[in-house]
Amino acid sequence: MMNTSPPGSIQLVIASQNVHKVREFRTMLKHLPQLDLLSLCDFPDYVPLPETGSSFEEIAIAKAVHAAQTLQQFVLAEDSGLVVPALGGAPGIFSARYAGENATDLDNRKKLLEEMRHLLDDDRCAYFECWIAFASPEGLQKCTRGTCEGKIALSEKGNNGFGYDSLFIKHEYNKTFAELEESIKNRISHRRKALDKLLPTLESLNVLLH
Ligand code: IMP
Repeated sequence: MMNTSPPGSIQLVIASQNVHKVREFRTMLKHLPQLDLLSLCDFPDYVPLPETGSSFEEIAIAKAVHAAQTLQQFVLAEDSGLVVPALGGAPGIFSARYAGENATDLDNRKKLLEEMRHLLDDDRCAYFECWIAFASPEGLQKCTRGTCEGKIALSEKGNNGFGYDSLFIKHEYNKTFAELEESIKNRISHRRKALDKLLPTLESLNVLLH
């Protein structure tokens, strides 16, 4: 890829193919103008690793290290999902393909409602978990975790967001993530909490380079 970054800026690749996640990251990193944010769309020839690993952490690290080494760039990669303790932690790391390999978000939500149809009250508690790994071409630099607690609604509500947002009622707000403004979700989400822990590292990137 040709380097068209503004002078003095640092390229950081968000290694996700999920447009919603990339959008959330871009918004949450807006206050760091020294970062020139790229995504995998800027590297059409790059073939990401197939998702293997038995935890969010392992998968996030593998994605970040592989992309950083292959692209010779600084990379942020994340792995996240919805955890329902009453379902033994499902859908967990399989959140994106809960209803099958090529499942849509809608298929996954339908399956979740079906699996939870007999569960009431506290058994409907759930949380989102997100791990973000930051890697340089030399390897992993840091990996952080964020969670966001709530419960699963009895039916879908709201039109914003993606994935399980229309089923996830955030504690304290009594609304699903899909009913909340995107700016509110970006202030309180699992992704925001994990990213906040990475900010000092990202803010000191220019020191690392110069
Ligand atoms: P992966 O990290 O790309 O393997 O997929 C994460 C999956 O978890 C997504 O496809 C969604 O189904 C779900 N997920 C993760 N974060 C969110 C979120 O903020 N809202 C709704 N669903 C999410």
